[in-house]
Amino acid sequence: MSRRDELRTNLETLERRIEAACSMAGRHREELTLIVVTKTYPATDVDLLAELGVTNVGENRHPEAGNKFAEVDHDLRWHFVGGLQSNKAAAVCRYADVIHSVDRLKLVPAIDKGARAAGRVIDCLIQVSLSDDEGRSGAVPDAVMGIAAAIESADAMRLTGVMAVAPLGADPDEAFVRLKNVSERVEVAHPDATDISAGMSGDLEAAVKAGATHLRIGRSVLGARPATG
Ligand SMILES: *Cc1c(COP(=O)(O)O)cnc(C)c1O
Repeated sequence: MSRRDELRTNLETLERRIEAACSMAGRHREELTLIVVTKTYPATDVDLLAELGVTNVGENRHPEAGNKFAEVDHDLRWHFVGGLQSNKAAAVCRYADVIHSVDRLKLVPAIDKGARAAGRVIDCLIQVSLSDDEGRSGAVPDAVMGIAAAIESADAMRLTGVMAVAPLGADPDEAFVRLKNVSERVEVAHPDATDISAGMSGDLEAAVKAGATHLRIGRSVLGARPATG
């Protein structure tokens, strides 16, 4: 099977899975945006995905993401979903349309400056930690409102919602309900921040059930990544 056929088949299977999850949850497929996470896979795969109708792709690491962006021939919406360091924010702002991983105050001026230098406004989601384990990435729920206010007052950033990764070993249903609660609090103060980025290959059903608006799917479309990825 060609790589194109393999990707097409995987996308079709995934679509059926998303539709089943929607129907279980009493939701409509149009309420959800699929972001295909292409990390560790080559730019040629991103071009094939674009030809198969994918419009949103995700990457988690700089400079891999930037190099791929430069190589891809199609116009896509690029989502940066990985941990971000302030000193890389400016570079990421040159290609990312959306950053899902704003998880501390210090990142806000760095992204704002980078976005202004790039002459654009970047959509930003606050990454929320859903575990009590301090070492994990994501803002603790109590820090979210402060970060939201900072993003809202930055000229070149637009607060669009919240994002989370379900903690390893945790019940994803429970984790995503916590995220939904954080989202509701954010929305009271920031009515435009309605996005909920949740759900990966292993837990998309739980995310759809809890109200996700954006799914970030890698392996189910591209295949298992090498252990080092
Ligand atoms: C890799 C990654 C995904 C996709 O995970 P899969 O299990 O491959 O679907 C989603 N979100 C983030 C933040 C990631 O790093």
